[in-house]
Amino acid sequence: MKNFVYTGNPARVIFGQGTVAALPDEADRLKVRRILVLSTPEQADQAAEIAGSLGQRVVASYSKAQMHTPVDVTADAMRSIERHDVDALLSVGGGSTTGLGKAIALRTDLPQIVVPTTYAGSEATPILGETEGGRKVTKSDPRILPEVIVYDVNLTLTLPVPLSVTSGFNAVAHAVEALYAKEANPIISLAAEEGISAIVRAMPRIHANREDIEGRSSALYGAWLCGVCLGSVGMALHHKLCHTLGGMFNLPHAQLHTAMLPHALAYNAPATPVAMERLKRSLTAPDPAKFLYDMAKELGAVMSLRDLGMPEGSIEAAVEQALSNAYWNPRELERSGLHRLLDRAFRGDEPKTE
Ligand code: NAD
Repeated sequence: MKNFVYTGNPARVIFGQGTVAALPDEADRLKVRRILVLSTPEQADQAAEIAGSLGQRVVASYSKAQMHTPVDVTADAMRSIERHDVDALLSVGGGSTTGLGKAIALRTDLPQIVVPTTYAGSEATPILGETEGGRKVTKSDPRILPEVIVYDVNLTLTLPVPLSVTSGFNAVAHAVEALYAKEANPIISLAAEEGISAIVRAMPRIHANREDIEGRSSALYGAWLCGVCLGSVGMALHHKLCHTLGGMFNLPHAQLHTAMLPHALAYNAPATPVAMERLKRSLTAPDPAKFLYDMAKELGAVMSLRDLGMPEGSIEAAVEQALSNAYWNPRELERSGLHRLLDRAFRGDEPKTE
């Protein structure tokens, strides 16, 4: 076995059905009495209902969370924090809501209880991507990591099937890149393999029946494991490309990850034989990139960046940006190779290893 370093992020995780009933006990454990409830506008009612069990401990709510955590939204939410003398945050929702809670925690070190309702996995990471003036900047800090995660499978039953599929692929992308990360280690690789197979098992079940409890449990469990991967080791080409394209063209996060993953994986495959063996095992498929592409397509995901909103004639600029900041990748980044990769992803063609 190779030498390795493993650093675990502290976490308290409550998982199951009906687990939001534990919220009052969790608030008491943290000794907090003045909670601000965060959500997107779409999930404001759901968040209010969940927070109901906390009674007087809830002092206010803020329901304007947005994708990519714009700093002006955070500044607006900070006014509620000051006005209501808040001592803890309850985030109910997907990565956008969790992102707002993390942005506030970075500025205040307030404890966070997160109730995730998608498979983005942000709740398990000390990472925050904030957007200002069209640029997304990633920060990592222990204050960003939530104190308690309450996974309640019941809350994911309303997640629309198309978003369930792409959110699941977003999670798989974290685990795939963890398998060939610079800091890859046997503990995180275990979590990655288990996380990928839990999600891949779940997706067809959820696609067939949005309320399939077994499928929903498996997907949420897998999403947590994949989030742990993202929060523990560095990412590479795939996440870098999604970050670049998402920021440049404001493309939808989970959908972009789904369309891009097979291509980034095909690019890195020749340089990552050990990771590929693990992936083949967890997917029970001989060609992981092709398998993920076919599966996403079969489950109705949009596989063309053009159809997701990337403008014609923008590939060269995207390659330029992707190459502009040096970052680690298991395979050297070649301009022409990246260009061909993005060409294929733009059209929604099959992934190809060159
Ligand atoms: P999201 O949080 O934006 O949710 C998408 C939409 O679905 C929202 O309108 C939301 O209210 C709604 N929704 C969520 N759960 C629902 C449910 N169960 N039922 C019905 N509707 C529901 O989407 P996301 O993909 O979870 O998060 C994307 C954001 O998270 C991006 O900003 C991304 O950068 C960030 N992210 C951060 C990390 C990290 O570690 N920092 C990791 C992953 C994603």
